[in-house]
Amino acid sequence: MNLKSVNLKNKRVWLRVDFNVPVDSQGLISDDTRIMSALPTIKYLLKKGAKQIILATHFGRPKGQIIDDLRVGFIAKYLEKILKETIWQSKEVAPKEIPNSAKIAMLENVRFDPGEEKNDEKLAKAWAKLADIYVNDAFGCSHRAHASIVGIAKLLPSYAGLLLQREIEVLTEVLDHPQKPLTLIIGGAKIDTKIGVLKEFIHKADNILVGGGIANTFLFAQGFDIGKSLYQEDKLETAQEIMLSAEVYKDKFVIPSDAVVASEMNDKALTLNLPVEDVEGDMKILDIGKTTLMKYLYVINKSAMIIWNGPLGLFECECFAKGTKKIAEALAIAKGKVIIGGGETIDALKRFKIDEKKFYHVSTGGGAMLEFLEGRELPGVKALAG
Ligand code: ADP
Ligand code: MG
Repeated sequence: MNLKSVNLKNKRVWLRVDFNVPVDSQGLISDDTRIMSALPTIKYLLKKGAKQIILATHFGRPKGQIIDDLRVGFIAKYLEKILKETIWQSKEVAPKEIPNSAKIAMLENVRFDPGEEKNDEKLAKAWAKLADIYVNDAFGCSHRAHASIVGIAKLLPSYAGLLLQREIEVLTEVLDHPQKPLTLIIGGAKIDTKIGVLKEFIHKADNILVGGGIANTFLFAQGFDIGKSLYQEDKLETAQEIMLSAEVYKDKFVIPSDAVVASEMNDKALTLNLPVEDVEGDMKILDIGKTTLMKYLYVINKSAMIIWNGPLGLFECECFAKGTKKIAEALAIAKGKVIIGGGETIDALKRFKIDEKKFYHVSTGGGAMLEFLEGRELPGVKALAG
């Protein structure tokens, strides 16, 4: 499973990457982190004498159809410039053959083929024919049982790329040898995707600090009036269940005691910092309040390991960004090991211009990181082992 243990000389390598990059209104790549993160593996394969690297990624959500705007050629062009190597571009998702002369090739958007998301064996076989070994470096997609993640891995000798390897190592450390006190900071919009992690960490973590939209559901479940705040009515029972199981651990599970509220969600909004019991009417809770922030910063300072997923407020608006920003800044200088993951959480770091290198680990997977931390075996990781 370890790429470093395999002889790559003259091998044709089918490399699943996650080049699902964000683009701006002109279709230009607005953030190349995902491309840059795959470079160590690509360079390693080249250095070790691989004969051919076949790159494959998805881009956007074409749902099994060919959508011209979602072709991946522009990503290949971008990578060409970085690598200073020509990339042979396939017009098809699964071409019959790739010219021998192509040192690096890139397949068309794998999700153009309906077989990708269905983990179709025929598609996986067509891909496997092109290569000698399979390498997965797309951690962010490894919680999906897709043909390019699972199907092909079963047909070829399969290995984790360097990026995927590092993700597994760090997240396994968190699960198996967490440093104590261990703190989980959880925020974001909806509670659904975070329930599993909350349930797992109630027993594992020493502190769970809750913020963002999900805190509203907990506040509501505790009987507070949350005005017009975002919350999930269908998750009230789950929220109650989680709080109930936290009761045996004194003060472990912390929800905000005060909040920044406004009736509008924009930068011109009139804001107030209120104790949560004073929220009413058309007020919306849009950030954690000052007292809550101080408390959370205090816990961060005492922690040996901290995992953070989910913004603590509507950080996209300046007037509701303070909680998320101060927490991010505190984590950047924290003594403990900090592990961060989540699409919008990482967007927040960028917005606040905080260098990712300041943290022990910034995961390339949002959903995949959460599922891993729940203790679930990711299909893509499992496929590499078996
Ligand atoms: P991540 O992608 O990091 O896992 P989520 O997708 O769960 O995070 O949620 C991020 C979104 O949650 C952000 O766009 C943020 O604006 C929103 N959010 C956070 N707190 C609130 C709140 N109190 N009210 C409304 N939206 C919120
Ligand atoms: Mg998100």
